[in-house]
Amino acid sequence: MSAIGFIGLGNMGLPMAKNLLAAGHQVTVFDLNAAAMAEAEQAGARVAESAQALVKGEALVITMLPGDPQVLNLYLSGDQGLLAHADKNTLFVDCSTISAEAAKQVSTTAKSMGVKMIDAPVSGGVAGAAAGTLTFMVGGDDDAFAVASPYLEAMGANIFHAGQAVGAGQIAKACNNMLLAALMIGTSEALQLGADNGLDVGVLTDIIKQSSGDNWVLHKYHPWPEQMPQAPASNNYNPGFMVKLMSKDLGLAMSAALKSNTPTPLGAMARNIYRQHELSGWSERDFSSILTTLKAKQQ
Ligand code: NAD
Repeated sequence: MSAIGFIGLGNMGLPMAKNLLAAGHQVTVFDLNAAAMAEAEQAGARVAESAQALVKGEALVITMLPGDPQVLNLYLSGDQGLLAHADKNTLFVDCSTISAEAAKQVSTTAKSMGVKMIDAPVSGGVAGAAAGTLTFMVGGDDDAFAVASPYLEAMGANIFHAGQAVGAGQIAKACNNMLLAALMIGTSEALQLGADNGLDVGVLTDIIKQSSGDNWVLHKYHPWPEQMPQAPASNNYNPGFMVKLMSKDLGLAMSAALKSNTPTPLGAMARNIYRQHELSGWSERDFSSILTTLKAKQQ
């Protein structure tokens, strides 16, 4: 059993913290949302009064926040920043999906203050977070990876060491989510085309699953309502994974592509499709709701 701090109890963070508790760790939590803190407390967590109070005396602190602004602000805001309150032997593991640059910025500042920070973004969605089957993509040196791995194993089924440099995990995550966005849009398009031409969506799903168009979306995250009871599509597109977060992730992928001068034509198109969807009132709904923009006629 170890003392772990956990900051950010959203759709992903709360079930992840619960899995650390279930594995027997002592977990102290903080979130700006009191309801999320109360739910974690009910599951056995200690509740901190502030993020700054939480970091004292913890061997490991995990953060799971929306994006760059929240992470940079939490870690680096001067006297109020987490790093300014950290014990020298604490390892910070940021599981948020942020830019590789922001991860490097936090880690470099941490190093200058005698503290270590690595990035470990995840894939697997809310269902994976609840089941403890997430995939972690870790950027950091061998020592930090070895320290963090046993804790990550309590929340995930696959722990990958993406690279020695902090930010390597974020690059892997940007690549994955750029592909996921294209898969979600493409799968939705194919299902809608079939339905508009008289096919039963369930039958079409079975056919594609045994054919060359088979993919993760059809098995784990069906975008068509009532095809998969646990999927957000069957729950009025409640997240899940919010459109604004997918839009953010595609922006991160585009920034990385610009930096390396890599052509990413489908990624660029996916970024525009999700950004428009975000701006048309769907920002906080699940990303599988992209299907609703493809309907040719009322069902
Ligand atoms: P979320 O918006 O549901 O949760 C974020 C939480 O952070 C909220 O509870 C919010 O109150 C809290 N928070 C924000 N600023 C804070 C601060 N300064 N101090 C304390 N708490 C603060 O988001 P989520 O869906 O849980 O996603 C978190 C991260 O994981 C994002 O980077 C996202 O891109 C990534 N991610 C999400 C999914 C998914 O399926 N939802 C999957 C993989 C990765």
